[in-house]
Amino acid sequence: MEKICVAVRVRPSISPENPSATFWKVEDNRISLHKLHGSPISALSYAFDHVFDENCSNSEVYELLTKDIIHAAVDGFNGTAFAYGQTSSGKTFTMNGSSSDPGIIHRAVNDLFQKINTISDREFLIRVSYMEIYNEEINDLFAVENQKLQIHESLERGIFVAGLREEIVNTAEQVMKLLEAGEVNRHFGETNMNVRSSRSHTIFRVVIESKGKDTGSSDDYSSTDAIRVSVLNLVDLAGSERIAKTGAGGVRLKEGKYINKSLMALGTVINKLSDGAKQRAHIPYRDSKLTRILQPALGGNAKTSIICTVAPEEIHTEETKGTLLFASRAK
Ligand code: ADP
Ligand code: MG
Repeated sequence: MEKICVAVRVRPSISPENPSATFWKVEDNRISLHKLHGSPISALSYAFDHVFDENCSNSEVYELLTKDIIHAAVDGFNGTAFAYGQTSSGKTFTMNGSSSDPGIIHRAVNDLFQKINTISDREFLIRVSYMEIYNEEINDLFAVENQKLQIHESLERGIFVAGLREEIVNTAEQVMKLLEAGEVNRHFGETNMNVRSSRSHTIFRVVIESKGKDTGSSDDYSSTDAIRVSVLNLVDLAGSERIAKTGAGGVRLKEGKYINKSLMALGTVINKLSDGAKQRAHIPYRDSKLTRILQPALGGNAKTSIICTVAPEEIHTEETKGTLLFASRAK
């Protein structure tokens, strides 16, 4: 079982003119809550594989947290990278980035094609798909007509989303164009796209298939025969914030229940996986669509990383503590 790599990223304060009474301090791979101008609150100090402060770039996050997963995927290992955190903490900034600092997805796709082009003795076939899980319903972001898709399992294909569009791609530019179109689909028909995007999980999936090239020499069968297939998931999770007990009714309440359910299922799955081989415990992948879809790329030989994004402002302290707790359980 591969160790799950867990990191925390603190985004810059959006209201720096508004001083807060407490703040989070980052030192090496540790994050602690301090009283303003005071000492650390020792009970609230956590260490992770990496902690990124507000000055760090997506490039640094990519290098330390995702690059190895991409390279392993080219070699045939499944992998998943998640962004977890409350709404407005920086999940989408980390995954999608900005024009001056492209995010994890962009960098992963570039890196993938670059890496493949250096491998001359294998042929590659790359397929991508993009889906959203909203209220436990799976929608295809490459094809708006594909809604409420079902998860199936077969001997040949393993666990798969039936009817999900897969596009064969040859260049990073092609992928980026598809993703842009997918983003438009995601917002289709929604009055408030930020609300929708913070209430759904999105999974960008890459399937990497490769086969040894026929070199013409007769004793080379072993290498030409081996077909490798790996799945890579880059996941922007729904906002992890608690829905206020009062004031949230109807649609919001329903969304909140589904999100809590799937994030809780994810937490449990990851917790059980990182608890290690000592217990051959039942892993409850079936408790949510999210964990079920990701099952083949979580656990076993799969490489997994989680970036937990947090907001530094005082008003977010409780949510930040909740996110750090989730992150600690994942270690
Ligand atoms: P989330 O997806 O978690 O809801 P966003 O990624 O949309 O949050 O971030 C909220 C806002 O903060 C956006 O305007 C985003 O550009 C900005 N932001 C988030 N993280 C960073 C960062 N590390 N550096 C600069 N701006 C950031
Ligand atoms: Mg977002």
